[in-house]
Amino acid sequence: MNTADKIFSLDSEVLNACVSCGLCLPHCPTYRVTGDERLSPRGRISLMRISESSEFVPTQEWINSMDTCVQCLGCETACPSSVQFGDLISETKKNLRHVRKLPISVRCGLKVIARPFLLKVATFFISYLQKLGLFRNSSYIPSGVPSVKRKLSVDDSTGEPVLFTGCVMNFWTPWVHEAALKSLKFFGVSPDVSGNKVGCCGALHEHSGLTKEFEKMAQKVIEKMPDTVPILVNSAGCGAVLKEYGTLLKTDEAKEFSKRVFDVHEWMAVNFELPKKSAEKEAVIVQDPCHLRHVQNSHHHVRDLLDPFLEIVELSDDGLCCGAGGVYSLTQRELSTEIRQLKSTALNEVMKGKGTLRVASANPGCVTHLQAEGFEMKHPLELVADYLSEMDHQSVEKLNEF
Ligand code: SF4
Ligand code: SF4
Repeated sequence: MNTADKIFSLDSEVLNACVSCGLCLPHCPTYRVTGDERLSPRGRISLMRISESSEFVPTQEWINSMDTCVQCLGCETACPSSVQFGDLISETKKNLRHVRKLPISVRCGLKVIARPFLLKVATFFISYLQKLGLFRNSSYIPSGVPSVKRKLSVDDSTGEPVLFTGCVMNFWTPWVHEAALKSLKFFGVSPDVSGNKVGCCGALHEHSGLTKEFEKMAQKVIEKMPDTVPILVNSAGCGAVLKEYGTLLKTDEAKEFSKRVFDVHEWMAVNFELPKKSAEKEAVIVQDPCHLRHVQNSHHHVRDLLDPFLEIVELSDDGLCCGAGGVYSLTQRELSTEIRQLKSTALNEVMKGKGTLRVASANPGCVTHLQAEGFEMKHPLELVADYLSEMDHQSVEKLNEF
């Protein structure tokens, strides 16, 4: 077999590791909503095996099976044979670019987020249209996009850790970065921010199979960041890809860089302990973003941070994806909505008898996606910052009593 002639060249050892046991099926959101084997991890692996033939020409059905994968990696966590499904689907999506183009809306969106100036202009128009009531609340753009003036400042390195602020979060949800900075300041840490000079990590480009664009962006991030300090990330999707730069770029520089990347919850939970709340704790549901739970395995750090002051309410869906999936809610709207319905059912289930609860999720995509369904979403760091500023006020009041 001449592998040079093949469009899809996957690692046959990884493909053969799958023993078709099907234990991953209940953890796959696309299988759960469709019941279609072709939209399950096992089915996708069988179809990938067909692509090993040099005569293989992908049909629309084959392409659809791969395109509909959210890349949540719930299947990897569930697999007893440790099949590296993430590598298989990532390589497949990369090769799909030879046979089909991404929708024009996605290509334009990805070009905009890679260029801070264009993102600034787009943000200005979106916030203006939202103020006029001409922009509908959507699954991928949050309601209340702030004015571009509210972005965080960019400092030169001071030797402190760097808060990676990324692209859309820097413009659309800067309050999450502000919450991270406030929380860290409580413990005496004043991070620098990466800001627009560093820009986007390229996670969505990598997910969409735009390898060249991704590599260029990743290299820029590495070059523009200081080379010794910890890099703290508060978006699960960005954190996951920054931690994977080493594996994806395969250079020593990228490998060294990835070793210094931490999810903010992870870094705080390992280094600090939050003061315990003595009064009654508010019950809050924790929703794990797939890139925190199935990729970074850092979801427990969110609980470590929230537990001292909140009553954590767990979902009973084993970390099933919410359907946001980066650009997935744009490219696969129907499936994305059906998957979100499963998450809504799980959220409503645990709220029974408890009233409406706030939901904490450490990924802006999941927050926006579930917000559009009417849930009161918060990034965990917003909850931490509010609690710590309450603590600060109490300490000041106590000092004033003397
Ligand atoms: S991917 Fe893993 S869990 Fe799923 S069918 Fe294959 S071996 Fe079983
Ligand atoms: S990555 Fe997620 S959507 Fe894709 S096959 Fe695995 S469980 Fe299903």
